[in-house]
Amino acid sequence: MEFAEEIKKILSYPKDIAITTHRNPDGDAIGSSLGLYHYLNMLGHSVRIVVPSEYPDFMVWMPDVDRIIIYDIEPEESAEVFERAEVIFCLDFNSLDRIDKVGDLFADRRATKILIDHHLYPEHFADYTISNTEASSTCEMIFDFIEGLGDKPMINKNIGDCLFTGILTDTGSFKYATSAKLFRIVAQLLEVGVDDYMLQDLIFNSMTEKQLRLLGHCLHNRMEILEEFRTGIITLTKEDYANFDIKRGDTEGIVNYLLKMKKIVVAAFITEQPTIVKISLRSKGDFSVQEIARRHFKGGGHKNAAGGASFKGLRTTVKRFKELLPLYKDQLNS
Ligand code: 5GP
Ligand code: MN
Repeated sequence: MEFAEEIKKILSYPKDIAITTHRNPDGDAIGSSLGLYHYLNMLGHSVRIVVPSEYPDFMVWMPDVDRIIIYDIEPEESAEVFERAEVIFCLDFNSLDRIDKVGDLFADRRATKILIDHHLYPEHFADYTISNTEASSTCEMIFDFIEGLGDKPMINKNIGDCLFTGILTDTGSFKYATSAKLFRIVAQLLEVGVDDYMLQDLIFNSMTEKQLRLLGHCLHNRMEILEEFRTGIITLTKEDYANFDIKRGDTEGIVNYLLKMKKIVVAAFITEQPTIVKISLRSKGDFSVQEIARRHFKGGGHKNAAGGASFKGLRTTVKRFKELLPLYKDQLNS
């Protein structure tokens, strides 16, 4: 592993360590943060996790998830964590604008910053950038990180449960970005006691009735298919947010349903948020939605899963998105 010797030295005696990850944290963000947290705790460090915004309910079972500090709820406590921190781990994001104001809390601090991430084009804001865009997830990278420091025997069930969660969610249940190496890692997680069946149940069979009805609404009333461009779009308005009392996390995964159609290559989920319009993109095969998100919506992500935002209102944003499609028509139909 890159920087193994330097990082071993840094971690060779007890330190105050902060871990942070991206806003609207997903299974990989929280799983990698908690997996690393448990490992660093075992090494004798004093570790706190700060996330910009709340995490979805399906993660409430994760060991020590309730110790995570949420900046939106506890901004002062969050600031204190970074004031104290001698080392700051940045996980599962590639640029400081992915963590909102949390970035301002530490960008200029002298603490040693270590970025561990699998997104394309990482920004170089950290002292050590450990980037692997081939990795399925940051959780896979945390496994490699611990192994790279010579501590694989320390990976126990607690760490395993956390890492399995991010691997499971970022690969969409082992559909994307898998590799023989990943399955070998997963085998080792099962060997330390991870119960894959139970975790799948906790993570994926956790919808509320409201969420399932919202999914129905999206598919029945808010879905548009652009046959010519092999693209499906689902939009949600401010009124939908009010009528369904949609909270963060309630819309998780809806975009993926569009890809269940054989004829669809690109899926877009475009939602009217209080101040921005959020655009969430998915694709199949070689078609890169990362490029669309980066070039047209100030965003980024991965080839097959990317996102961005627009300040132009819902209808204008949808219109702009549709106007882009002819540029990609040949690629979409190849
Ligand atoms: P989601 O659609 O689930 O919100 O995000 C899918 C992927 O796109 C994630 O890997 C996430 O990191 C990336 N992504 C989503 N929104 C943004 C954004 O606004 N900016 C950047 N750079 N990446 C994003
Ligand atoms: Mn990830």
